This record gives sequence, C-alpha cells and structure tokens, in this order.
Amino acid sequence: MKCYYHIDDDAVGMCARCGKALCSVCAEDVGGALLCPGCIALAQEEERLRAEQEALETKAETRLVLKSVKKTMLWSWIVTAAFACFCIVGMWQVPSDAAIPTLAKIAICILMIYFVWSGYWGRVFILHRWGRKVEKLTGGERGWILGLVLLFVACFVGFYGGGIYQYLKYRKVIKQGD
Ligand SMILES: [Zn+2]
Ligand SMILES: [Zn+2]
Repeated sequence: MKCYYHIDDDAVGMCARCGKALCSVCAEDVGGALLCPGCIALAQEEERLRAEQEALETKAETRLVLKSVKKTMLWSWIVTAAFACFCIVGMWQVPSDAAIPTLAKIAICILMIYFVWSGYWGRVFILHRWGRKVEKLTGGERGWILGLVLLFVACFVGFYGGGIYQYLKYRKVIKQGD
C-alpha cells in the first residue's frame, strides 16, 4: 500500500478519520491515533469553531444576566422614587394641628423611604436565603414557633441589612459587566 499523498512511498498506517493510507512523513500520532494532514487541519478548525461558539454563548449569557440585573436596579429606584413622592406629599398633608416638627417629618420620611428601598432589595434576600433556612427548621411539629421567630428575624435582617447586601451585589455585577 502506498501513501495517499506520496505515491512512491510505502504506507505505514491509515488515517483514523478518513482511512487514507499514510507514509511515515504524513502520519501523525494525535493522542494515540494516526491522522493525515487534512484531518488534522479539519480537527483544528472544528476545535476553533467550537471554542468560538462557546465564547459567543458565554457572552450572550453574561449580557442577559447583566440586562436583568440592570432592570432590577432601575426598578429599585423607580419604586423608591414613587414611594418617596407619595411619602413626602402625605407627610406634608398632615393637618397642622398635629404639629409634627419639620425635622421629625424629614426623619420619618427618610426612615419610611429606606424601609421601602431596603424592602425591595431585601425581598430577594429573604426568599433565597432565610426562606430556605426557615423551611428546613420548620420541618418538625414544634418547629413552627421557631420558624415564626426566625421569620421575624429574617424579615428584620432582610429588610434592614439584606437590602444593602443585595443592592451592593447587583451593583458589583453591573460594574464588572461595563
Ligand atoms: Zn484523514
Ligand atoms: Zn505521505
């Protein structure tokens, strides 16, 4: 048997992919299998395309995540701003005989706006972290008391601490993406 590429040279083996006879110059050992120059080039091209496709998919995925994170971020401000308007207007509509000092009104507004803002972010925190923990703990018959207490703590932590945690996490994602 003669080499497919060099008709004067004796073949030493066959290409594992296309079956062409190959001489010692043409045959190349690729991971224990003999391949011809054409099949090696083809395999390299396939590998390149596969890597390219993978990179494209990863990029599209990242873009999708970034889009959803940005949307959440935007909505957090829309909800907070809407509530802030509602809160401020409501506060200053309180009859004057109630005589709430301006400083107290401002303080109440800030607290209420923060509660809404943090609650917006905290709801994610509660659903995904504390929610699961409470679920596990309330499995038993007497577990519901502990569950209720934990849920209360979770709401408090989630609304006042979890909000900041979640907000910063989303901000980090956007920063990394841009
Ligand atoms: Zn081949
Ligand atoms: Zn050859």
